[in-house]
Order: sequence, then structure tokens, then C-alpha cells
Amino acid sequence: MKRTILVTGGAGFIGSCMVDKLIEDPNNFVVVIDNLSTGNIKRLPTENNGNWKFIKCNSNEYRDIAAVLTSYKFDYVFHYAAVVGVKRTLEHPVSVLSDIQGIKYILDLSKNTGVKRVFFSSSSEVYGEPFEHPQNEMTTPLNSRLPYAVVKNVGEAFLRSYKQEFDLDYTIFRFFNTYGPKQSSDFVMTRFIKSALSGENITVYGDGAQTRTFCYRNDNIDACACTLYNDLHLNDTVNIGSDHEVTILELAKLIIQVTGSKSKIIHLPALAEGDMSRRKPDIAKMKSLLGRSMTKLEEGIKLTIESGQYYY
Ligand code: UDP
Repeated sequence: MKRTILVTGGAGFIGSCMVDKLIEDPNNFVVVIDNLSTGNIKRLPTENNGNWKFIKCNSNEYRDIAAVLTSYKFDYVFHYAAVVGVKRTLEHPVSVLSDIQGIKYILDLSKNTGVKRVFFSSSSEVYGEPFEHPQNEMTTPLNSRLPYAVVKNVGEAFLRSYKQEFDLDYTIFRFFNTYGPKQSSDFVMTRFIKSALSGENITVYGDGAQTRTFCYRNDNIDACACTLYNDLHLNDTVNIGSDHEVTILELAKLIIQVTGSKSKIIHLPALAEGDMSRRKPDIAKMKSLLGRSMTKLEEGIKLTIESGQYYY
């Protein structure tokens, strides 16, 4: 079965990994769009056998995005384009809020052009500082406060509403911390690896007791792609992450151990806002999608280093 697929934010970390996955299937034709504000063209595949195409385009500009959606007849849309990164989203809240515009355009154009399903990249941030552990898609209350979290929450509401009023199918992915080759150094894993390999200090914000669960990118992509290929989680929300919880201090020590680095760990003041103390998803749905064991943290760190692609 031939599929024409749009990936927005396709020059970003997770978007570009999904592009790599989708073009493995010769039945897919993939249009990749990105405004290249934080996306990097170098993340796109080096070869092109004619089943993908890149268009520089801003999802938040109606004329730009409308031209793309009306020029192709997309079967599926993966909407990854967004302003990301804790520092950037805190410093540019108006740009973050503008992403609501893009979500609405994507949904309007999808419903009007016969798209069969929209896959939306939401975030663990919708849970805010969580009320319960692990965070479950249905039972954990959404505690979104910061603009980034609010946009993802509103985005989810838009998807459910377009289903209700226009019968546009969706799947919502709530991404928890993901890492691996091609991630930018805005995020802790790449930053720590870079510091460790260059012998620079590893900077831990606060006491480093805050926890995260780190999901290797291939686990994320394989689980998400499975919802498309096996027609699963239609009109549903799925946590995409790992359930192995580590403190940031433990992560710093592990990276020093794996790299054999002489870097010192130094503590900087805790971030003023937006740094959750704990985060851990309920990943029952994801595990069943993946159907294999998840990549162990140490293994994923080694794979990231071996790839040499931790420099974006
Ligand atoms: N962090 C840190 N030092 C850094 C970068 C990040 O201690 O140089 C911490 C940050 O305070 C947070 C965690 O690492 O608790 C993950 O940060 P990241 O920005 O990667 O993602 P977040 O989970 O905050 O969305």
C-alpha cells in the first residue's frame, strides 16, 4: 500500500529520526518540512532514492503550510514542528504560544484534504509537576502551567475536538526525555556527553536529585511507527518514554564512567522555574507496541557516542 506522509519539524531530532524510519519502506513517499529555526538540514538523510523531499516551510504561516498540504494528497501527517528546549521556551513564550496557530492550520488542512490520521507530538510537560508516579495517560491529572506545556495541552484538546466534530483521526504521543544520535546539545544527555568527551566540567543544576527517565531514540521511533503500520492507538494517547528512573547526578556519573572521562561534576544554581523534580511514565502501552526489550541506558549512551552525531 502506497502512503504519502508529511513530517513537520523533520529536520529536528525526533522528526528526522522518524523520517529515517519512514523512508526505509519503499511504499512511503515522505515530504519533510521545517523552518530551520532550530532544525538542521544535516539531520536529513544523505541519500535520496526519490521517496522523500525537503521543503523549507513554516507550519505557523498559513500560506506556507496550505500550499504544501494542497499540493500533495497526504495520507498521514506527523506534526513534530515546535519551539523546544527548556531555556528557549522560557525565554520566548510568545513564539511558543504561536505554535497553537500551526497546530490549528495542520488540523484544518488535514480535515479538508482527506488526511487519514494526524500523529501529534505532545510532551510529558502536560503533566507539569506530576501528582502521581508513574504518570498514566488516563488517570494522572494534567498540571500544565508554563506556555510550552499549555500549548501541548491545548494541542491535544484540538485533536480530540477535530475528531469529535470532523471525524479526523489522531494519535497523541506524549514524549518523555528522549536521547540518541542527532539530538542537540540543548538537552542534558548530549550536553553531558560533549563535556565528558572534551574533559570540561559537567554542570548539574541544583543538587542533581531531580529524576528523569531516558528513552533511546530508536525505542521511541519504533513504538510510534508501529501505531501507523499496525493501525493501533487510533484516537488514543500514548506515553513514549522509558521507565528506568535515574537522578541527574547518577546520569553525570554514568557518563563519566562510560567515557572514562576526567571531567569534574560541578553544581550550578537550580533553574528558577520549569525543572520538574521527578518524571516517570507508565509505559504499558508503549511496551506492548515495541514488542522487544528497551535499550538499556548505558548501551544507548555508548551507541550515541559511537555514532559521533552528538554535535548539533
Ligand atoms: N540539566 C543539568 N545540567 C545541564 C542540563 C540539564 O543538570 O547542563 C538537568 C535539568 O535541570 C533537568 C534535566 O537535566 O533536570 C533534564 O534537562 P533537559 O533540558 O535535557 O530536559 P527536561 O527534562 O528539563 O525537559
